[in-house]
Amino acid sequence: MKYSLVINNISEIFTGIKGREVLSGGNLVIAADCDGKICFAGTQDEFLEHESEDPALCSKKIVDAGNRVIYPGFVDSHTHLVFAATREDEFALKAGGATYEEISASGGGILNSAEKTKRASLEMIVEQSSKRLEQVIAYGVTTIEIKSGYALDTTGEIKLLKAAEILKKKYPVEIVPTFLGAHAYPEKFKKDHEGYIDIIISEMIPEIKSQNLAEFVDVFCEDGYFSLKETEKILSAAKSHGFGLKLHADEFNSLGGTELAAEMGAVSVDHLEEITEKGMEKLAMSGTVAGVLPITSIFSRLPFAPAKEMMEKGVTVALATDFNPGSSMCGFLPLAASIGATQLKLSVEDALMGITINGAISLNRGDRKGSIEPGKDADLLIMDASSWIYPVYHFGHNHVLKVFVKGQELDIEKREGLII
Ligand SMILES: [Zn+2]
Repeated sequence: MKYSLVINNISEIFTGIKGREVLSGGNLVIAADCDGKICFAGTQDEFLEHESEDPALCSKKIVDAGNRVIYPGFVDSHTHLVFAATREDEFALKAGGATYEEISASGGGILNSAEKTKRASLEMIVEQSSKRLEQVIAYGVTTIEIKSGYALDTTGEIKLLKAAEILKKKYPVEIVPTFLGAHAYPEKFKKDHEGYIDIIISEMIPEIKSQNLAEFVDVFCEDGYFSLKETEKILSAAKSHGFGLKLHADEFNSLGGTELAAEMGAVSVDHLEEITEKGMEKLAMSGTVAGVLPITSIFSRLPFAPAKEMMEKGVTVALATDFNPGSSMCGFLPLAASIGATQLKLSVEDALMGITINGAISLNRGDRKGSIEPGKDADLLIMDASSWIYPVYHFGHNHVLKVFVKGQELDIEKREGLII
């Protein structure tokens, strides 16, 4: 068998390739080889020219797309999907007008999650997180970053990263773990920042490295959380241990975190609602991706990050959900693209690039994920639409009909084990 998968009768393909984003004209074909890599994407005529044998005889599986659209599998490049408890009580307080800072000052927020996470067993966290992940996969996400950061002590942070590792073994999608011990200061270190940073640097980072539990280290650089200097100290330690760097910055205030991320070679800096001109220029020069989180802006009543302006300045912009129990209880990534096209004024192409190839670049996977071209993993979505624009336009609805990872179809209905 030459192919693991041939999908034919495709109306249009959103490729995720800059400059030739869309293949149209109908009667298109995508083929994957036996390593689960894309080996062909083009017209039926081209495919038959290039293929001497009858595809039915040399392919393990042939799928008729029914004149529908194919997208690359979605890449959610910023989530906090592994957590122990939801916080709908705080949501109700927020709905009544309380601010993020007020909720945090009254013992809510990240510290509330941290208490619940510490008490939860690993099995319970895995069980809850599996449900969320299965839902997200049904929305078409085939690559997802998952951060720790809801325990804020060594044992608890390792428990969260182990939960992510179990999900990684359990599901065929690509899971990218990030250590975010520097998410907030635990209560007892509120007045002893040095003490907590010391635990992060001398205990957590080396232990996580030795158990190979994370690929990236992230810090929440904000007023009331980690200062610019503290952020630099933690990121430097992470870098010296060989971790890739990510950063939360410029959400409420601009402290210089974006500039720092660019200078230190971080793969991405995320949030950026308050990014400055200088920050944008630094990102454009460094190649550090801007991770924009428009669902958080809506959920938490924050301004939108200036995604269009950043793109016009040459910054690569990824769009992600920020799925977390406090500020964005939503794992429906296509919504980020729809808000991108409506509120952020991005073209539909750029909005889709934000949840596919640009997300992959911000996870150091631009060479394997996020676009439909020969050599990349055959992570593909059949969307229940005949026009590539339609799923972004008809927003708030899940248009995903079938999900393939490395050429294998996932059972998104049954959701047990997932591989068909
Ligand atoms: Zn976040």
